[in-house]
Formats: sequence, structure tokens, C-alpha cells
Amino acid sequence: MNSFFSKVTLFLVAAVLVISSIGVSPASAATPFKDVPANDAQITYLYERNLISGISTTQFGPDYSVTREQAATMIGRSLKLNGTKRTTKFPDVSPSSYSSGYIQSAVEKGFISGYPDGSFRPKQPMTRGEMAHMISRAFNFTQTSAVFFKDIKVDNDPTSLYSATNKLATAGITAGTGGGYYTPDKTLIRQEFAMFLARALEPKFRVLFQNATIDKLYSTTDNLNVRSGPSTSYNILGKIHTNNEVQVYGYSGNWVYGKSGSLTGYFSLSYLAKATAQPSRVMVIDAGHGGSDPGAVANGLREKDVNLDVSLRVERMLKAKGINVLMVRRTDVFYSLDYRAAYGVKNGADAFVSIHANAASAGVSGSETFYSASVANDSKQLATFIQNRLYKAMEHTNRGVKEYDYRVIAANPLPAALVELGFLTNSGDAAKLATWTYKERAASAIAEGIEDYYEWKER
Ligand SMILES: [Zn+2]
Repeated sequence: MNSFFSKVTLFLVAAVLVISSIGVSPASAATPFKDVPANDAQITYLYERNLISGISTTQFGPDYSVTREQAATMIGRSLKLNGTKRTTKFPDVSPSSYSSGYIQSAVEKGFISGYPDGSFRPKQPMTRGEMAHMISRAFNFTQTSAVFFKDIKVDNDPTSLYSATNKLATAGITAGTGGGYYTPDKTLIRQEFAMFLARALEPKFRVLFQNATIDKLYSTTDNLNVRSGPSTSYNILGKIHTNNEVQVYGYSGNWVYGKSGSLTGYFSLSYLAKATAQPSRVMVIDAGHGGSDPGAVANGLREKDVNLDVSLRVERMLKAKGINVLMVRRTDVFYSLDYRAAYGVKNGADAFVSIHANAASAGVSGSETFYSASVANDSKQLATFIQNRLYKAMEHTNRGVKEYDYRVIAANPLPAALVELGFLTNSGDAAKLATWTYKERAASAIAEGIEDYYEWKER
């Protein structure tokens, strides 16, 4: 393709974008575009009102960038401004260009001011940041609220980028680009422009802006005030206590805007700190039996192998949750029950879970979890949190949480539970415990039950 033809093509794309199909109203609610969902309400809304058209008869071109003159023209048309081509205040906008009338009208309405050097740069792609300025002024969005974007510096300047994006978010025109970002320097694409414009014109399309949590801090004092604004002159909405968690939405000078429990407001940064006293979590996983002791053997499975396999999966999953794990055994080796029972205390752990598989007559099926009441601690809760997840994950009978003084838990000073995954002597249970899927499911249930336990314990 020669360069002359490229330029002509580009020009046509630009022209089609802003020249509507005059006098023809669409027969149905659907647009003719193949590259956007047929039921896209916002694009349909704009298309039906002749405020946008495609880059061809069947293509909307959602990922194409929007130039500054295209944006000015589309906003000008949607506000029914005077689009008569004429001389503008900008030397780089030709009076004969299709956009000149709308650009000059926008100058007169005060929503376009151009660059400090006096130019407008009509062919330059518009950024999301520039769009925030243009839309907030053009549609007179003036209200602000507690809006924070990770990538936009908070200030008190009514003409700043922060102020413009705050007004858009407060008005429900944007929810950001996800994860607490607005991405102001990104080139605006037609899909985004259509969303901005449709929401500006039609309140039913607007979205509820929600701040993202960007940090977690903890109160270092008791009765820390939560205020309605970022200074001590604002009302007190409530108080939080030492070590209460604050989900941080944004920072404003020496103040944090965020949420703690049911309270949302401003907290003085002087009384908040990063977590330093997070309780540690150190769990012992004991794969039952091993070495010369195979445990139950039935339906082609040896208990010691199943126990170790599931235990190693639990170890991996607990580590992924940030829980420290001590493994009594990681290979096919035998240890005595007393060695296992003493292992956790000796090595600084705070709880213990022994993993087993069961044996009985062939008709008996299901999972159960044991605790010992001989040591007064949280063993029953640990067993319950695990069992409540395990039998569902295994999709079999819930035989419940039971008290029994198995030595490995009864002689154990730590909160301790003994899990029976299922019955190797039952062909259905055994078939499940032979598969990757059910071993993974069982391990995941145990790891999540352990996490439930720590969350309950630390609450
Ligand atoms: Zn066993």
C-alpha cells in the first residue's frame, strides 16, 4: 500500500467516525456492527441518536483511538452546539476542517482550552486524562467526593487532573480501569469514549464508583477517631481500637481515607501502622503411618501412601496461603506416635493435624474428624472447621466430628485433629482416593478448614 493511499484511508476512517447516516433512523435497537455485542446498550443509544457511527458499515472499531478533534466534535454534536465550520482561536485547526465549528463552540463554552503553546493538536489521540477534563467541563460535573485513584495525585486544585477524574467518578461516568487505577495517560479508545459519552448523556448508564483497597493498616491506639473529612475540624463518625484493621482506599496528606468494620471515613495517619504483630501460623501436618507400618490396606491402596500424598498437597496449599508448615514426614518412613505427638511443641508450631484413611466393613463410607478432649484447647474447633469442608469436597457421607483419645492427638499439648479421609475398605471411597481430583479436593478442604480455624482463632 503506498503512503498516499494510507493517508486517504485514514482520512476516511476519521470522517466516517463523525459523519452520521443522515436522515436514516435504524429499524431496530441493534446496531449493524459485528465487532461489538449487538445488545451493547450504550453504543446502541449513541447510534440511534446519530451521535456515533462506525468506521465502516459493519465495524464500530472499538479499539481505535479517538483524536482530540473527533472527541470535540462528538461532544459538540451531543450537546447540540453550533458546528458551523469557522475560524478558531487555534492556528493548527483549519477553518475548513469538519471539526472547526465544534472546536470553536467548545472554546466558547469553556471546555476546551488547548495547550500552553496556543495549539490544539487536533489529530493527536486523546488520553483518558484529557477526556476527564473535557467531559467534566462540557457536561458541568462539579460535585466531588472521596474518590481515590492509585495513579493520580490527590490535591485541592479545582482545575487539576485529580479534580477532573474525581468529578467523573462522583457523577458515575467512570469506575476506573480496575484495581484502583484510572490510567490517565492511556490513549482513549472508541469503546471507552462511547461509554463516557453515553453515561454523561443518560443517567441510567451511570456506574457506582467504588474505591479499591490499596493497603491495610492497623490502629496503634485505642479510641482512634474516624472523621468525615481529612482534618480534626470534621465530625467524628465513630472510633476504632488498638490493632483494628483499616482498609486503605487513599491518602490525603497526613490522612487516610478507608474503612474499618462498618465505619468509612478519614483516619489520622499518625495513629496507623503497617502490621507488625500479625500472629504467626505454624501448622504441623502429620501423614499417618509410614515405613514398616502401612496402615489400612484395601482395594489396591495402602493408607500410608494415600496419607502422604494428600499431606504433601495440604503442605503446598497451606504455604500458598502464607501458613508455615512443619511436616512430620515427607517420605515413606516410620515414626512413633509419641514422636509425632511431641513434634509440634518441640518445633514451635501452634496446631497439629494428622491425616489418615479409614478401614471397616465394605459397606461403611464417609469422612470423619477426631479431636481429644483430654487437653483443654481448641481441638474441637480445629476438627470441626476441617470436617465441615472435607465431607462436602469428598462428596460423601458426613460421619461428623467425634471425640476419641487417639494417642497422637491425646498426648499432644497443641490444638490437634485427626482426619479420616474416607474408607479404603469401601470401593467407592477407595476409587475416589485413587484419583488426582479427589486427593486434590480433600487437601484443599483440609487447607481451607485450617485457614478457617486460624481466622476464627485470631478474630
Ligand atoms: Zn490410620
